Amino acid sequence: MKDALSKDSPKTKTKKVLRHLAGNNSSLNKVRRSLEFHYALIKQLRLKYKLKENKKKVSHAVIGSVIRKYKALSYIRSEIGIRNPSKDDRMKKKGTTIKRMRVDVHQYFERDDNSRITTGVCPTVTKLEDKRQKRLLLDTIENLYEKYRREAKEAISFTTFWRLKPFWVKQKTEKERETCLCKTCENLTFMAIVLYKHKVIKTFNIEVLVTQVVCNPNNKDCMFGNCSSCKEKQVETNIEDFNTEMSWNRWKTEKGKRTFKNGEIKEVTVPKKTQENGSLGHLMDRFHDDLWIKG
Ligand SMILES: [Zn+2]
Ligand SMILES: [Zn+2]
Repeated sequence: MKDALSKDSPKTKTKKVLRHLAGNNSSLNKVRRSLEFHYALIKQLRLKYKLKENKKKVSHAVIGSVIRKYKALSYIRSEIGIRNPSKDDRMKKKGTTIKRMRVDVHQYFERDDNSRITTGVCPTVTKLEDKRQKRLLLDTIENLYEKYRREAKEAISFTTFWRLKPFWVKQKTEKERETCLCKTCENLTFMAIVLYKHKVIKTFNIEVLVTQVVCNPNNKDCMFGNCSSCKEKQVETNIEDFNTEMSWNRWKTEKGKRTFKNGEIKEVTVPKKTQENGSLGHLMDRFHDDLWIKG
């Protein structure tokens, strides 16, 4: 209602306000005239206030004891667009509170009694080019909230607590409890299963195999492939003949064409399961190539 009114001219506004009043006597004309003047004045002040050099003058002129007496302070502020400095302060204060809380909540979530870093092949999460090491919560978010409330100096709502959680700290999903289903991990699993069947390795659990090629799965450098002592570490194997012929599955992406509902044909990439063949030595190389791309 107010928005629709503000687009109108002072004359139209007045007409709209008065449209339900019948008659055309002189007192109605007086009301009309006063209202038109009111809207014209507001409009003029608003236009003046828009210029930077006028801001102080205009607010000085319109804010005073009369306006206060008639309790029209917030009305005149919103009509002319004058910012409320005390409200700005409050917002600023709220901003710093949130900032401080964010630091506290981040520290809390990253503590080793509340979350742990992942030991899978994909230990990182990236959001807006910010690459972080993924951590998994050790308890339900409800329990962690209750615990935080008991420890925290200031009150915090559950919603704020949840909103301030760092994006790299995640709840375990059903998938993560089992295995990662990304392309890299699935390809690793295809190779691991074949190696396991040929009794080359003792397990096809990728998480366990990852721990064999790093000094310490809790060390960020090792997991990111930046540690010189484990950069080229290999999994424990039992190999009799490197030339044994092997074949394994691998996901590849292929360019394909897809027809959309509106008849448009677009090029898309589609994953395709392919079969690869090669010697055991070659397979081991491929396997380690993929395993070393940790993150
Ligand atoms: Zn993965
Ligand atoms: Zn290392």
